[in-house]
Amino acid sequence: MISFGAAAPTAAAGGRSTSSAASPVTDRASTAVAAARADWSWPTAGRRHIVDAFDAPEHRFGAGHRGIDIAAAVGETITASANGTVIFSGPVAGRSVITVDHGGGLVSSYDPIVPNVRSGAPVSAGHVLGTLGPGHAMHCRSGCVHLGVRFEGAYVDPAPFFRPPRRSVLLPLDG
Ligand SMILES: [Zn+2]
Repeated sequence: MISFGAAAPTAAAGGRSTSSAASPVTDRASTAVAAARADWSWPTAGRRHIVDAFDAPEHRFGAGHRGIDIAAAVGETITASANGTVIFSGPVAGRSVITVDHGGGLVSSYDPIVPNVRSGAPVSAGHVLGTLGPGHAMHCRSGCVHLGVRFEGAYVDPAPFFRPPRRSVLLPLDG
């Protein structure tokens, strides 16, 4: 266990900024990602494959992909990526979404999920949020969970939060 206490940005303590300026948020987001990534885990147990990457919209309401799509089968268990509190569990524009507040300005959302948790429930990393529901066909035909991450309200690329699947490399001992 490595402590990241000294590096934790504690962004919330500094007061919430409602400014829409992009770059300071991006800088602080990078710091938050660096601090948080050690504690984040993939929401899927099996395949850890990003089928569709984050594509930041140029404008707040512009086109883009506000998250990543991780390969998953309908019915597959989807888990919380980090400790936090469920702040929303319900339909958004016809999709069943679960949103988790991780503190420090970080919020993650998962859809489409058939929920196992209710709003207000505390969760830890790996806690079952529910199962992958149908309805993301417009995103990826083979099935996926859409994961969005916001830092202080702005969407950031979730990919850096997740370490790539660990590959066991077996080195010859006779080297
Ligand atoms: Zn998506």
